[in-house]
Amino acid sequence: MTIPKNSHRVTASPGDPLPANQCLLIDADDTLWENNIYFEQSFADFVTFLNHEHLTSAEIQTILDELQVANRAAHGYGARSFAKSLRDTFQHVTGEPDDHPDLDTVERFGLRILDQRFEILEGVRETIDMLRPHHQLMLVTKGHREEQQVKVERSGIEQCFDAVVIVEEKDESTYRSIVESLDVNPRQVWMIGNSPRSDINPALRAGINAVYIPHPRTWHLEVEEVLSGFAPSLTLLRLARFSELTGVFATDEPNRLATS
Ligand SMILES: [Mg+2]
Repeated sequence: MTIPKNSHRVTASPGDPLPANQCLLIDADDTLWENNIYFEQSFADFVTFLNHEHLTSAEIQTILDELQVANRAAHGYGARSFAKSLRDTFQHVTGEPDDHPDLDTVERFGLRILDQRFEILEGVRETIDMLRPHHQLMLVTKGHREEQQVKVERSGIEQCFDAVVIVEEKDESTYRSIVESLDVNPRQVWMIGNSPRSDINPALRAGINAVYIPHPRTWHLEVEEVLSGFAPSLTLLRLARFSELTGVFATDEPNRLATS
């Protein structure tokens, strides 16, 4: 098997075959479907609505970031938590009381994300169809359970996965637990996603391989430097597009679904 030229194989010798029966853990938001673009648009509309006299958009973003991090423990991730953080940001910068009529409008900028049109990323459906007969596929997403479950159902590809795992946070212990729950050699486990903070770095720390597929509109709080000091037995790949996975993982070996 040939590794695509634009992939970056950080460790292991180039050209090692990646045979069938790998266990592919696949992130969802901004890996399988669009997500952060809707949050960015809501924030932009919030800033326009706020029309603040002297705070710039970047300064308001910094305040929102701090409030989102503060709200994370109690409210987690997702549109509802984001809506609350927008509310808190509004009150923080205006000093308005809890019953200010604009707060409903502000909250709706966040809540409308729940009703956004749903858009699978280019090539995802076809790629999943090609990988599925040859590898174990597990969707691993973090966030509000109900919000994530609705997206999984709307995606129309839920049935392509052997399992769907929704967790509150994707950290090293999350990946260790997942690997322990699987009856597989960790060398055959790969985490595939767009977030260095939630997909790539904690997976490498947990002792599994990773495929980093950057999304240009990744949430800035998910961006950090990709780990370089991980176990030499592990492989980190960087691909430009989800569809390039078919050049890395076998799609021409016996069909596991046909024999099961
Ligand atoms: Mg993601």
